This record gives sequence, structure tokens and C-alpha cells, in this order.
Amino acid sequence: MLSFDELLKEASAIHRHHCAGQILGVRMAMLGCREVGIDEPRGCKKLIVYAEIDRCATDAVQAVTGCSLGKRSLKFLDYGKMAVTFLNTEIGQAVRVLAKDDARNLVPLYVQNSDNPRDAQKQAYRVMPEDALFSVKPVAIEVSAQEMPGYRGKRVQCAECGEGINFDRDVDLGGRTLCIPCSEEALRSNGHANGVKATNPKVLLIVGYKKVGKTTLIEKLIPELSRRGYRVGTVKHHHSDFPVAVDAMGTDTWRHRQAGALSVSLATPTDIATFRDGASSITLDQLVSGLAETDIVLVEGFHEEARAKIEVLSDCNDESLCKMDRHLLAIVARNARSSAVPAFEPSSIKPLADLIEREVLGKPGFPGVTKNSNFDIPSVSQLPVG
Ligand SMILES: [Zn+2]
Ligand SMILES: [Zn+2]
Repeated sequence: MLSFDELLKEASAIHRHHCAGQILGVRMAMLGCREVGIDEPRGCKKLIVYAEIDRCATDAVQAVTGCSLGKRSLKFLDYGKMAVTFLNTEIGQAVRVLAKDDARNLVPLYVQNSDNPRDAQKQAYRVMPEDALFSVKPVAIEVSAQEMPGYRGKRVQCAECGEGINFDRDVDLGGRTLCIPCSEEALRSNGHANGVKATNPKVLLIVGYKKVGKTTLIEKLIPELSRRGYRVGTVKHHHSDFPVAVDAMGTDTWRHRQAGALSVSLATPTDIATFRDGASSITLDQLVSGLAETDIVLVEGFHEEARAKIEVLSDCNDESLCKMDRHLLAIVARNARSSAVPAFEPSSIKPLADLIEREVLGKPGFPGVTKNSNFDIPSVSQLPVG
């Protein structure tokens, strides 16, 4: 390997600018190669580096090692961390070299006199001991055949955009071969547009005291969400102890159940109704799992469940049922005014559906109401929403 000064000169030339990042990157690469037993990385086919940031130092690592994206020997992991992993594929040995954050604070200890902080940093990074600059950890990396630099895989075509896909980056979605962006797009539109079944429906509770308009709100949300392409299911929590009238005494299904059937389905040319025992012990999860071919299940009631919920109030000044409930996403009420959470008038169905799309259905990059920062609502991906 060339000397540090020679490598730095080359790296700065390639980077077209001499910065502290070049010094850091060159030292990082020299250290990493040494740790995995590679004396001359350039032209050696056994080194793969994994860079976790797209910054100056990464160019220096590329310059020193000769590893590059084009050769598939430089892998970019977009983690935003100043770390590079060096893998010697021949012996299966790898180290992750992380630039220490506190190295900056040590700069004054290694500089005589400099009133330019950038110069001081460059001076210090040249001479600072390696263990002050970096932490080095052995790591285990399994490289699949597809990730190896020389891999020659089949080339397939995306069924959606028609573009060619290399290196097995195609995704099988409901039997269709798609490229990654097309598959992500298909999943964003909840899959069903391409004949793909969603796995688990999202669950949104519509809660509130009696007669505040929960059913009316659900009646308005169903067509709005359906119009946007979502398959909507509902669950209604009923407090009555009486058997449901449709399964009335004397019907055939009633007789099946009387004979001991645990679950009875009645199928007509237009409808399917299923009756089953154990309503008192059944959980919301079990109920929702029976609606697997939906994208979202609106649940009327079950306000004590720790799930995303919207509360309906008669008036915004009324006492809330879910005060301080961190799963509360919004309130629907007359005289709506946002406080801890956004509030919507009962007629504002479209803005409310926007919020549901963004917060519950996970539609990315969706502009809309922003969360109140002083109220701790966990991001929806952390919520157990089905
Ligand atoms: Zn730079
Ligand atoms: Zn595509």
C-alpha cells in the first residue's frame, strides 16, 4: 500500500477537494484493510466495503481501496453513520470501523496553534491515535451469491413498467414479477389494485359515548375510503344480551347451532353470514382476523383497546372519553378546534379521510394535518393497528 501522504494526495484529487473527510477516510480505509489482512487492496478481488454514509470520507475509502459501486465491491447502506465495514471474502473476516463522535472534542489536544477550526481539525486528524479516532469491531457478514462482485444473474422484466431487472432484485407480488419501485407502489395502493390480497387489515376504532354519531361517521367514512380504493370492513360492538335476530329461532342455521356447531355460515347468492359461539370471549384481534380481505376495519366501540382511535363528541367542549389516550388520533365534534389532537367537524369527511390514510393506512408523503408536537402520539407504525 502507498504511504498515508500519497494516498491522501490521490484521494483529494479524486474527491477534487482536500478536507478533513479525506484524512478520516484514508485513515479509516488503511486501518480497515490492515485489520482484515489486506496489504494492497487495489486490484485485489477479495475486498468488499460497506459504507454507511454518502459523504466525503466515502470517496476517500473508494480511492484507497479501489472498491466502487460499479465493481459491486462498494456497497452503500444509507444509514447516515460515519462507519465503514471491510470484508475480506477470502477468509470471511470483517471489521466495522466507526468514526468516534467525540474525536472532534479532542482536536485542541493535537494542535499547536491554529485559529482556523477546519485547519485544526485536519492537523489533528492526521496525528490523532487510531483508537481516539475510531472504534473497531469484528463483525460477521454473510454475503449471498447475488451480492458478490462477479455475480451473473438472470435478467427479468417488470410486469408493470416493462424495465429490465438485474441481480435478482425482482419482487414476486401475488404471482407478478415486479421491480422494487413498482412493488412498493402496488403495496402503497394496498396491493389489491393488482389483485394482491392485503395480509392484515389496519384497525381504526371509532369511539365515543352513546348517540354522539359514531354510526353516522362510519357511514360517511365507508364510501369515502372505498372511493380511494380501500376495502373497508367494520366491526360493531353490541351490548345486548339477546341473540341477533337474523339467526332467529327455528331457522335452519339456528338448528345447526342448536345441534352443537361451533360456527355456522349461511350463504345466499348475494350474502354470506357467519354465526359463531363465544362472543363474550372473542377478542378484537380474532374478529378482525375474520376480515382478512379488507384493508381497513372500522370498529365501532372497544374504546379501551390500545389501538388507533378517533373519538366522536357531540360538541368539542364536551368531556372526552379518551382524555390523554396516546392512541387518540383525532376528534370529530361540532365547534371543532384542535387542541391536543386535530379536531374535525362532522361534515369534514375528506380531511378526516386524509388523516386516516396518512396515520392509519400509512400512505407515505401525504400532506395534511400535522401532529401537535406537545402531545405524545406514537407514530402509527408503532401502534398495534392490526
Ligand atoms: Zn470533502
Ligand atoms: Zn417496474
